[in-house]
Amino acid sequence: MDKIAQAAMTHDLDREALVEILRSDRYDEALFNAADQIRERYVGNDVHLKGLLEFSNICTRTCYYCGLRAANRSIKRYQLSVEEILEFAKKAIEYGYKTIVLQSGESNVYACETMCDIIASIRALGATVTLSLGEKSEAEYRAYKEAGANRYLLRIETTDRELYRSLHPRMSFENRLNCLHTLQALGYETGSGSLVGLPQQSLTSLANDLLFFKRSDFDMIGIGPFIPGENTPLAQAKGGAFKTALKMTALVRLLLPKVNIPATTAMETLNPDGRAIALRSGANVVMPVITEGEYRALYRLYPGKVCIDDTPKQCRWCISGKIIAMGRGIASGNGDSERFIARQEEQRSFYDANA
Ligand code: SF4
Repeated sequence: MDKIAQAAMTHDLDREALVEILRSDRYDEALFNAADQIRERYVGNDVHLKGLLEFSNICTRTCYYCGLRAANRSIKRYQLSVEEILEFAKKAIEYGYKTIVLQSGESNVYACETMCDIIASIRALGATVTLSLGEKSEAEYRAYKEAGANRYLLRIETTDRELYRSLHPRMSFENRLNCLHTLQALGYETGSGSLVGLPQQSLTSLANDLLFFKRSDFDMIGIGPFIPGENTPLAQAKGGAFKTALKMTALVRLLLPKVNIPATTAMETLNPDGRAIALRSGANVVMPVITEGEYRALYRLYPGKVCIDDTPKQCRWCISGKIIAMGRGIASGNGDSERFIARQEEQRSFYDANA
């Protein structure tokens, strides 16, 4: 039996096989087809739409690949008021979003109590809340959870410690891991992921990322292609690894059939049909931006971000139309991953059996 057929049955591949699939084109068609079939079998045909609210581009970190890095003085920084955040969230809920993803650079411009108020207010509007705020203390993660936050996204970016160290000045790989463990222990539906196509990133390193995701039992995995940003130390790097990012997406689906996988906006930046292609290769989530006005362009992690001149309302109907044209539906639930739902059921059965 070939490698892809075997993985489709066992959801297991060793490092050597992963590297071989990433290296060679000869598995591509079988890989993408298998990922699409497994996606349909385990998480269905419907696509979860989650509204991405990029509420501040202020960041104290200096990640080499990121346009929001503190050392980039060429971008105008912004910080939405609590009222603006709630107004954008409310409109997004009116457009049909069930999940609001609150994302910002890593900073303390919003005190923990303020974030908790924002989270509680959005929950009171009836939406599920996903956070993507970077590394915080355990006390902060706990406070957000108690305020009602449901999910947390924190990409590991790369599991290659040396590469991680070289790209993240004054950050620690161990702390990143600790944050992920803490989030899982606190009961968050936890997401991670990788940046693909970084300078010095080997195929073995990418295979190790996949094995890390499998071992860690995450609920969501986001794969983004590296796109070199102006005014960053990697401005002259190659980037643009669309095919490799697509293969990583498909391999995540093979290894972790029940997780949620977003078709990332960065994929659409590299290919005008990038999100649809990712949705046909294992992905089942899209996160359109729901921030309004100039903020859409100012949250510039990388150049060429799509849909910056559209309104959230236009984006909502545009992406829905594309999904329906693909023969897929828009999910009506709150967007929990099948992996998370299954784990909650396992825990309930365990407690019932031991009551
Ligand atoms: S990747 Fe995140 S933490 Fe790093 S500079 Fe960009 S916004 Fe800040």
